[in-house]
Amino acid sequence: MSAPTITRIDQCRACGGTHLQQFLNFSAMPFTDDFVKPEHKGSEFCADIPVYICRDCLTAQTQHNVDVGDYYEDYQYSVGASGKASVFMRLLAENLQSKYYPGKQGVKVLEIGSGDGEQLLAFKKTGCSVLGYEPSSMLCKVAAEKGIPSIQGLFDENSVSALPADFQSIDVIMLSYTFDHLPKPQPFLASCRRLLNPQDGLLVIEIHDLEKIIDRQEYCLFEHEHSIYLTEQTAHTLFEREGYTIIDFDLVPDEDRRANSLIIVATPKTSERAKQAVLPRTPKKFQDLGFYAETGQQIATGIAHLEAFIAKSTAEGKKLAGYGAGGRGVMTLAAVANAGKLEFLVDRKPKQVGLLVPKSHMPLVDIAYLAAHPVDAILVFSYGYMAEIQKELIPLGYKPSQFYSLLDVLAGSQ
Ligand SMILES: [Zn+2]
Repeated sequence: MSAPTITRIDQCRACGGTHLQQFLNFSAMPFTDDFVKPEHKGSEFCADIPVYICRDCLTAQTQHNVDVGDYYEDYQYSVGASGKASVFMRLLAENLQSKYYPGKQGVKVLEIGSGDGEQLLAFKKTGCSVLGYEPSSMLCKVAAEKGIPSIQGLFDENSVSALPADFQSIDVIMLSYTFDHLPKPQPFLASCRRLLNPQDGLLVIEIHDLEKIIDRQEYCLFEHEHSIYLTEQTAHTLFEREGYTIIDFDLVPDEDRRANSLIIVATPKTSERAKQAVLPRTPKKFQDLGFYAETGQQIATGIAHLEAFIAKSTAEGKKLAGYGAGGRGVMTLAAVANAGKLEFLVDRKPKQVGLLVPKSHMPLVDIAYLAAHPVDAILVFSYGYMAEIQKELIPLGYKPSQFYSLLDVLAGSQ
């Protein structure tokens, strides 16, 4: 097993400019999913995550690519089948169909990074003809069992010719939390434009929203796996430059989205839909370089609030557990000096009970373990699912007052 290697790029991923200014740094951060066996504790990959702003196009981004080689081959991100996620996927498919293809059957949808096929299944139910592209052979198999065809592999400019004849002109190309993992968004957007129906094709991209990340101080979303962090404004700039017009930022209402999401619906500039162009609503402060320096300071304050919360709770003799072992839980804890004071990190579907959380080395446990080892307070990292989590844990004897949302703790209101 070879160790991951890091390559620096020194060039803006969005505009190719070279005027990049660092505004954040997280020291010795692990991969979000690199849980370790107790006997390998301390051997997991850790490296700094500096984050930069491009002074030319204002796109926030990292300037390092991590080549994971065979180190990390079982990366299996999947949102699973939580109720809220299913509702979101259904709404996204239904809203797209009713708003842009009313009454049309057989709309061709290609999803890049299609995972276990759940989103495409929702499109298929609305009458679409679907195809997935997914690097994990295991997830392709899971999708196939649901009747969702996928091509196994990483999508790049060579993939265009590998698509079947009936998918050489596509109505909808969709990516959910995949676009912000791409090291080079420009050639990717060019490939998609070649595939999209030039008259009315749509590119639908869901990514983490930098405006919300900063507003909520969700520094945990700065990960090795993420290359760029867009706002409506920087998305607008990037897509315009690559021959697209953005026509919609509101495909799914905010309250129905997963915790932090920017949904972009773009169409080729040649398309008849381009006249429906919408303007970005990003607050002006995001155009001010000084704002990013302040952001770095605010995030440090948020981390200090979280450390103080852990110190106070445990000093009072309370047993504190974390809930949610996704990237949010793992990366939040990795940046906190006293994370080891938590008893354990609970997850509804842990990767494997008995593993340790990367860097912070807390035990990863399931709900049965929590039932047998009660705690006094639960810090909820996957706060977007707070209602579902409470519903699941209240039968174990927990009261709503024992749950703390990460967002409130970071804001210093707990
Ligand atoms: Zn740039």
